[in-house]
Amino acid sequence: MDNTADRSEGWKENAPRCLITGASRGIGRAVAESFAKEGYELFLISHRDIKDLSGLPGHHFAGDAGDYEFIKSVMDKTDTLDVLINNAGVAYYGLLQDMEPKDWDLVIRTNLTSMFNTCALAIPKMLKKHAGKIINVSSVWGRSGASMECAYSASKGGVDAFTRSLAKELAPSNIQVNAVAPGVIDTDMNSKLSPEEVRELVSEIPAGRMGSPGEVAELIYMLVNAGEYLTGQIITLDGGWI
Ligand code: NAD
Repeated sequence: MDNTADRSEGWKENAPRCLITGASRGIGRAVAESFAKEGYELFLISHRDIKDLSGLPGHHFAGDAGDYEFIKSVMDKTDTLDVLINNAGVAYYGLLQDMEPKDWDLVIRTNLTSMFNTCALAIPKMLKKHAGKIINVSSVWGRSGASMECAYSASKGGVDAFTRSLAKELAPSNIQVNAVAPGVIDTDMNSKLSPEEVRELVSEIPAGRMGSPGEVAELIYMLVNAGEYLTGQIITLDGGWI
């Protein structure tokens, strides 16, 4: 199967370059759409199939963000990078005692190891311009923890610590690292919830509804455009929930 493609319409020469993981749907697709509108040259990664990225301009790649060699093959396609959005993620819901080691590994590899892969390979490209923005997608559970979501919460807690640490490491090089921590966003990740469970969840959210992928994309875009003194922050977007 062909796992790369170029949909090259839409950006100008010298356009800023942005790489987004998990761009096929949900929050990642909304982020890709908003950066496309702003004229970015996009490097988009979907997990299974480049067809899942159809409709989005940019360079398309399919593969596992947790696989260092795959991310290296994507990064090799560009000598510079201005913005990196680490969005790929998976959830796992269930008691810890029932969790298989392979499920634990998948959550940590997808949600946390992927950030090592992309950041380690992106930093040298950002250093060339002495500038760059890295935005990691965390979750409110990274801070508060969630019952039945130990692995997911641990991975996102790891994302928060990773964000703060890398921000300190890269501030002298003028690269800012921040994270967004959404509450409940209306995407496939929550599609297994029954209407009853959704009603119950929403009744606990002061804003009275789930957030939308577009609202997360808007916050990410704001953070990318924020001044260089803003770094190492985890910004919660949860309608006042947690
Ligand atoms: P989603 O399931 O719709 O999208 C997840 C994306 O990640 C998909 O594009 C999927 O293909 C991709 N992905 C999964 N495993 C991958 C892998 N190994 N390699 C590359 N890509 C992979 O869910 P979403 O809600 O859009 O999730 C996006 C991010 O937002 C995730 O990091 C998630 O943890 C986080 N988040 C979501 C919510 C929510 O309520 N939806 C809340 C807090 C945080």
